Amino acid sequence: MGTLYEDIVDYGGEVFGREHMETLKACVQCGKCTGGCPSGRNTALRTRKLMQMALLDLREEIFNAPELWFCTTCFTCYERCPKGVKTTDIIRTIRNLAAKEGHMSVPHRMIGVYVLKTGHAVPIGPDQMKLREKVGLDSQPPTTQKYPEYLKEVQEIFKTTGYDAMIDFDWETMNLRGMEKGGKK
Ligand code: SF4
Ligand code: SF4
Repeated sequence: MGTLYEDIVDYGGEVFGREHMETLKACVQCGKCTGGCPSGRNTALRTRKLMQMALLDLREEIFNAPELWFCTTCFTCYERCPKGVKTTDIIRTIRNLAAKEGHMSVPHRMIGVYVLKTGHAVPIGPDQMKLREKVGLDSQPPTTQKYPEYLKEVQEIFKTTGYDAMIDFDWETMNLRGMEKGGKK
């Protein structure tokens, strides 16, 4: 394990290329990213601060910062940065590093639970089904929610990649470990 910057370049570099990740070094802390962040208007997310924490090697602090998970990956900061810092991809890489060390937020882990149980990050509910019928569509599109017999293959991917362990999924209760079947702690 190197510095957080080195890990970001190594790990993110495998997906985006090292030069892409090395743009982090160009950050001049101008704050233009924070100024345009839609999530930051309503949450504690401060994009400039995340970049600063990454450059200062504040690994534990950033991995434990709830705001790391408030980014909606809208790419506004990415487009606005005058120095070409690939902010959104840097945030996504930091999240992946944090997740590997057991720091994924509960709401993000719950998205994994939905995918495991239905094949959808956002399962289709009764309201959407009614809407679909109203415009002449089948109440459900042809996905694993309609054909649950194919869900096993999705679940197999979770097992093969170890994602079930990463989110601490309990196959007995079909929920996060320590949560009741209804989703409550
Ligand atoms: S806009 Fe770019 S240079 Fe300015 S603080 Fe954000 S990441 Fe750094
Ligand atoms: S990508 Fe994330 S950090 Fe950047 S502006 Fe959008 S929500 Fe904010």
